[in-house]
Amino acid sequence: MIDLDNDFLSPDHRQVREQLRRFIAQEIVPEAPAWEEEGAIPAAVFQRMGALGYLGLSLPAEHGGSEMDALGSVVFGEELGRSGFGGFMAAVSDHADIAAPVIRRNGSPEQQAAYLPDIIGGRRIVGLAVTEPRGGSDLTRMQTTARRDGDDWILNGQKTFITNAICGEIFVTVARTDPDARGAAGFSLFIVEKGGRGFSTGKAFKKTGWLSSDMSELFFEDFRVPGRNLLGEEGKGFYLMMQGIEHERLSIGSQCVGMLERGLEITLQHLKAREAYRGVLWDLQAIRHEIARIASEAAAAKLLLYHAAARKSRGEPVRLEAAMVKATLPELLKRAVDVFVQAHGAQGYMRGSEIERLWRDTRPHSLGGGASSVMLDEVAKLL
Ligand SMILES: Cc1cc2nc3c(=O)[nH]c(=O)nc-3n(C[C@H](O)[C@H](O)[C@H](O)COP(=O)(O)OP(=O)(O)OC[C@H]3O[C@@H](n4cnc5c(N)ncnc54)[C@H](O)[C@@H]3O)c2cc1C
Repeated sequence: MIDLDNDFLSPDHRQVREQLRRFIAQEIVPEAPAWEEEGAIPAAVFQRMGALGYLGLSLPAEHGGSEMDALGSVVFGEELGRSGFGGFMAAVSDHADIAAPVIRRNGSPEQQAAYLPDIIGGRRIVGLAVTEPRGGSDLTRMQTTARRDGDDWILNGQKTFITNAICGEIFVTVARTDPDARGAAGFSLFIVEKGGRGFSTGKAFKKTGWLSSDMSELFFEDFRVPGRNLLGEEGKGFYLMMQGIEHERLSIGSQCVGMLERGLEITLQHLKAREAYRGVLWDLQAIRHEIARIASEAAAAKLLLYHAAARKSRGEPVRLEAAMVKATLPELLKRAVDVFVQAHGAQGYMRGSEIERLWRDTRPHSLGGGASSVMLDEVAKLL
């Protein structure tokens, strides 16, 4: 696919890409098939990535991060996606690039000092707990409540489909604090630490893909959270979450680009090597055109992603661009990976083949973080 590094990235960005790609090739890819069987990546992987500085790329330097801009997050997301292991990608990106930035954006200096060093160092794993059985795309239907009791908050409710629910110790959690409020008003954010009376997790979900990231439910039954763990202004939780939503959309778009490039790479290798008729499959125009179309569309979408990240890095608004990225790339990825599987024939349908895993692991991007139709609504609203 097109290489935009020289046009958009600084030497620091490129160095991170090079080092991260080498680290993933040497230390992740050989081990990850075993983690897929086990249903989670080991805690030691977070610690190793933390020690190498990969978990704090967008987080404050005073807590051990490197405060890179939005293009740094693009590099991070792409390289995780290129690993070809969606579970590894999800566990790590949810921790470092989805949940932790909510604490960075909204945490008081004391909260940041209490949590970010361990998160950046990979010593404690964090997740984002928003979705509920009755509140998915329509988050105003969330029913988890938090009521004041002296200095503390008492949480009641249930979260579901939470990545890192089992390996995680800290959850950025949304709950309604004003029972009389309607719609998006009256929600607040909390830093919830796992454990203690009234907190439990469900069984690990058996997912179709992302096998090496764990996922479960969180249950709160009169669970006590200290008052100091309210994150940001009371009653503004929904809006505070939405303020970071562009970061999340670009992060997901970056993972899609990484997966697309990896899928394209292995498909081209296969097509050029697979002998058929009087040559190889790559000689067939019907196949070449399909791949060429995917590659051209992917290049255009990648350019949109980099444009949005560059604007964001300059502090310019990107609400429309980020929604377009999230509306476009996951759908393109789904279509592309289907073509890649077809190009591999039966081999592409076999467990253990990289393209088969990619097929399963690309599916969640158009479901989570705002489903594609929700993104199209957002784009239409902004048009
Ligand atoms: C692998 C994976 C990991 C996840 N990790 C997390 C996590 O860590 N934390 C967390 O909080 N959540 C997580 N989620 C949950 C995810 O955020 C929700 O699945 C998502 O918000 C959609 O909610 P829902 O599944 O309840 O679908 P629903 O809200 O029931 O929607 C179902 C479908 O209806 C359609 N639809 C919805 N709204 C509209 C609309 N306005 N217009 C047209 N069509 C529409 C869409 O096609 C959508 O896919 C994860 C999900 C997956 C699959």
